[in-house]
Amino acid sequence: MKRVRDYVNGANVERFRFYVQLATFVLLIYGGWLAIDLGKYLPAFSCVYVKTRAGSCYLSPFQYQMNLKFSEFLTYKGALFATGLGTFLLWFALFSKAWCGFICPFGTLQDWMTRLREKMHIRYSVYSEQRFKSLSNIKYFLLGLIVVLMLSINNSLFGLPKLHEDFSSFYCMICPGRTILPLFTGDFNQLALNLTSKTKAGLTGLGLGITGMFLVGGFVKRRFICFFCPMSALHYIFSRIGILGLVKTGDRCTRCGNCYRVCDMEIRAIADDVTHRNILQEDCTMCLKCVGACPEEKCLEVTLLGTPIYQSTEKGFFKRMKARLHI
Ligand code: SF4
Ligand code: SF4
Ligand code: SF4
Repeated sequence: MKRVRDYVNGANVERFRFYVQLATFVLLIYGGWLAIDLGKYLPAFSCVYVKTRAGSCYLSPFQYQMNLKFSEFLTYKGALFATGLGTFLLWFALFSKAWCGFICPFGTLQDWMTRLREKMHIRYSVYSEQRFKSLSNIKYFLLGLIVVLMLSINNSLFGLPKLHEDFSSFYCMICPGRTILPLFTGDFNQLALNLTSKTKAGLTGLGLGITGMFLVGGFVKRRFICFFCPMSALHYIFSRIGILGLVKTGDRCTRCGNCYRVCDMEIRAIADDVTHRNILQEDCTMCLKCVGACPEEKCLEVTLLGTPIYQSTEKGFFKRMKARLHI
């Protein structure tokens, strides 16, 4: 047992993650060709506009299923919404935030952009603490906006007039996943404006602008879009139900800062917080880079139902360092 544990703790988690991301990207983008269907409630940006997908992002049905009169929430339509949310939660409970670090095709794409940037020796930029805090809130604002807009289509909220049906896929229209992920199947149609109405033209135009921001931002910032992702906000609201955990034993931490330096999501608490056992933060993608970079024995640990399955160890740390330096 100790041997297995030493082997796992000494593993090159970055290489492992690279192959898992590659496999899940291929599965989710092209799996439909093999008739694989994981449903439409996945807690990841696997876009509904990819025709060959093997499963799709929950935000799309979330919008349509919320688009109800208040009284309809107690009918079969409300039950449909509850079933969708329940299925999403079951998927989420299974892999927790690791959906972002290992499975989401859009997260994977951003990691590939980071690798490319590194190969081109372009430096990345880091947010100041203050800016990080304010930007972090944008995802909750976006999630709130989706809910309010969807409810406003069939209800007169605060005495305001109802919104037009054209807003029913509001988030998909502005999401860069819609414009970019279909390109991997040779489908360029989503790069055009939707001119069927002024609203759709405006929203798809905004989507193209956000896509441009993504392409620039993704080259200078690690996981640029993940900071603003409403799916991540939804994850964090339900993060306690995940069976995977990230925990820290604060009195073993020397605050060397290694974990913070490797963190693509710039989570300072991973190094600074020495009081909380549960160290899973709202922006965490559970990429496990911090655990691999920590040199202290069992200071950071990944747990499955409370049992450690991957731990920081001195031996594992030096093994990874040697491999990186080719010595
Ligand atoms: S936060 Fe990033 S990785 Fe997670 S669902 Fe959003 S885009 Fe994907
Ligand atoms: S790498 Fe480990 S020891 Fe260093 S600050 Fe992070 S948790 Fe603490
Ligand atoms: S805190 Fe650790 S697991 Fe979470 S995103 Fe940062 S490096 Fe990855």
